[in-house]
Amino acid sequence: MPSPFDNLLPRYDAVVIGAGLGGMTAANNLAKFGRKVLLVEHHYQLGGLATFFKRAGGHIFDISLHGFPHGMIKSTRRYWTKEISERIHQLKDVRFINPDFDVRTTFDRADFTRIMIEQFRIPAATVEAFFAHLREMNYYDNDPRTTRELFEQFFPGRPDVQRLLLEPIAYANGSTLDDPAITFGIVFSNFMSKGVFIFQGGTDTMINIMTAEMKANGVDIRRNVLVEKVVVEKDANGVRRVVGVKLRGTREGEEAEVACATVVSNANIKDTVLKLSDASSFDEAFLAQAKAVRVNTSSCQVYMGVREGESIPHIGDLVFTSEAKPFSSRELVDFHTTSRTYSVYYPDTRPHTKKPRYGIVTSVNQRWEDWAHLSDADYQTHKARVIEESFRGLEKFIPDIRSKVDHAEAATPRTVNRYVRHVGGTSFGTKFEGLKVSMGLPEQVGGLYHAGSVGIIMSGWLGTINYGVIVSAKADAYLRDPSAKPLGEAEASAGV
Ligand SMILES: Cc1cc2nc3c(=O)[nH]c(=O)nc-3n(C[C@H](O)[C@H](O)[C@H](O)COP(=O)(O)OP(=O)(O)OC[C@H]3O[C@@H](n4cnc5c(N)ncnc54)[C@H](O)[C@@H]3O)c2cc1C
Repeated sequence: MPSPFDNLLPRYDAVVIGAGLGGMTAANNLAKFGRKVLLVEHHYQLGGLATFFKRAGGHIFDISLHGFPHGMIKSTRRYWTKEISERIHQLKDVRFINPDFDVRTTFDRADFTRIMIEQFRIPAATVEAFFAHLREMNYYDNDPRTTRELFEQFFPGRPDVQRLLLEPIAYANGSTLDDPAITFGIVFSNFMSKGVFIFQGGTDTMINIMTAEMKANGVDIRRNVLVEKVVVEKDANGVRRVVGVKLRGTREGEEAEVACATVVSNANIKDTVLKLSDASSFDEAFLAQAKAVRVNTSSCQVYMGVREGESIPHIGDLVFTSEAKPFSSRELVDFHTTSRTYSVYYPDTRPHTKKPRYGIVTSVNQRWEDWAHLSDADYQTHKARVIEESFRGLEKFIPDIRSKVDHAEAATPRTVNRYVRHVGGTSFGTKFEGLKVSMGLPEQVGGLYHAGSVGIIMSGWLGTINYGVIVSAKADAYLRDPSAKPLGEAEASAGV
């Protein structure tokens, strides 16, 4: 077996830890700036959570291709390829079915305004004022208000409206009524601009295009390699700076060390500070801040593959279902939640496949603590339960679904943790406070950056790609002049 370290250079300008969307975008951008970049991924496959897997029977399953905002078209065109941006298309049939309402929508501002006025009887002026307020929300305002308080201001005593607004966003980024309102506001506004979009061709096609693009730009990609340590030393002026990384092959355990001037970590921010770096690299107060960061919730998913030759009726693209009354953020992540979203993949998801194929992925938000300590037997029992509950929910729409599916399997918070190594198997990075730690990293260690799901806002496909762009601009500025004042947010964000 060839070594994952064959032809490894002794020194790179930048090492990127992890090939999720944030890491790949940062690596690709730095290579386009002319930097020598090493991208290191512990898994054999690239994409991180934005990846796919295949199963016998011709099934391909996407992990996180459920929907992202329209902004992906601009971001992928600017920072990836025209081909990727041109394959992004809208999901037009989003459904919500729960004890409070039954709604079918294109999930954009015009349609939501109509629904809120006609179906929920909210005065038009209130709906307009709500959207105007969201448009003005800004991360730098430091507004401590929660989403609960925001909703109470505009829709007091209307849990049904609050459910309509928050439930889809909670699925998209794990945010709750008690998180800062900005975490809801930014993501909801992004979706409301034009609706929900996905990548036509499937995640496999997108990752293949991204990989080819990175290679064409000169990124040195190493799979099956774990970054074990970021090496930091003090320079002649006593300033802590990145000098290299320690690597280990995940198959044979080979070890290597390469020198570099910058590291962009796509690992979870807590893992980056508390595991991949030595405590001596940071001030005490910063370490305490990093320890206090709460990770976001995780997920269970059930992947159902429809047998070749079979078809299923159109039941919607994204179907949000719940039996919970009233809606609560707690019920949404409960071990026995009744709230699940079905992403239905019709043949036009992968129009290039020879035979039309259908698949369904059920998503449930879950807590790591409920799954982490189950015995092997209990773990299997609860995986089977989650699959069974998915089938039962789906039978309400497609009564003969069991006879059409020839493959079903479940992923849990433990699966997420195993494949991408994130602490707590988090699906959406960290809670809000993680963003400050992520952005503060280069002030602690010259040349050390983090790009990836963090602070709820910088998560999801769009958030992580945009964060990768911002961070690569900062890392490039450091490479130009390590002693210069770090690039500010506004300069680094220009164009995103
Ligand atoms: C079930 C689920 C459904 C989702 N659905 C959607 C959706 O519909 N729309 C949407 O926009 N977002 C969705 N998301 C969120 C979205 O997928 C993520 O926010 C995004 O893909 C995360 O990108 P990232 O850059 O943070 O990196 P990640 O995808 O988290 O990848 C990090 C990478 O770093 C690697 N790594 C970690 N540590 C090391 C190390 N020490 N050495 C080497 N490699 C390492 C990991 O293996 C991984 O490849 C979903 C997430 C989940 C879990």
